[in-house]
Amino acid sequence: MGGKEKGSGSLRLFVALDLPEGVRERIAAAVKKKAGLLPQARWVKEENLHLTLKFIGEYPEEKVERLEGILEKKALEHRPFTASLRGCGGFPSPGRARVIWVGMGKGEEEAASLASGLDSGLTRVGVKREARPFRGHLTLARLKNPMDCCSWLASLEEELSGLEEMDFQVREITLYRSVLSPQGPTYFPVRRFELGGKKVERD
Ligand code: ATP
Ligand code: MG
Repeated sequence: MGGKEKGSGSLRLFVALDLPEGVRERIAAAVKKKAGLLPQARWVKEENLHLTLKFIGEYPEEKVERLEGILEKKALEHRPFTASLRGCGGFPSPGRARVIWVGMGKGEEEAASLASGLDSGLTRVGVKREARPFRGHLTLARLKNPMDCCSWLASLEEELSGLEEMDFQVREITLYRSVLSPQGPTYFPVRRFELGGKKVERD
């Protein structure tokens, strides 16, 4: 997989759940209808829509192999699960939003448990623990200045009706490298790790 040139020293990394193309298309179509009413927002490109499980940040390239070892082990501790997305909101609040997001319907508990396993496992390879509790979400847009988005969110919510019925199977997690630029970030999948569906139960 691309995006991992030799000798760059440090890589900006995060671990995410990928979404099926149909779900991304569905969300992008809803956003497209409403984005014009929120011109201040910086929108996430359709192909970049993802659910972050753990933000790693700048990480020494020579240690990535060890980090991958932890991800492999942690992924095997979890079974595949069914997920869906539902509704939308704003962080830190809809009335003073800096981030506009779509929430999780099914599978949030499983995603939270995966995130917490990664959070604790990765401390062993020098990654800082997450200070805030996990909230499964997909970032749609960012606002430089906080804004009251309540009515905009209500109309997007209507546009997103039926999204929660688009169940999908989560069978793997992906380690991404993020390259930031003034044109926006590019995410390169570094490696995917299968969840441990075939784990043998002990007596
Ligand atoms: P940009 O920073 O240019 O707006 P981005 O946030 O999509 O783009 P990154 O900053 O590389 O790209 O972040 C990658 C992923 O990790 C995104 O899902 C982002 O929301 C998440 N993320 C970034 N920083 C943090 C952080 N400090 N804590 C938790 N998640 C983060
Ligand atoms: Mg960022």
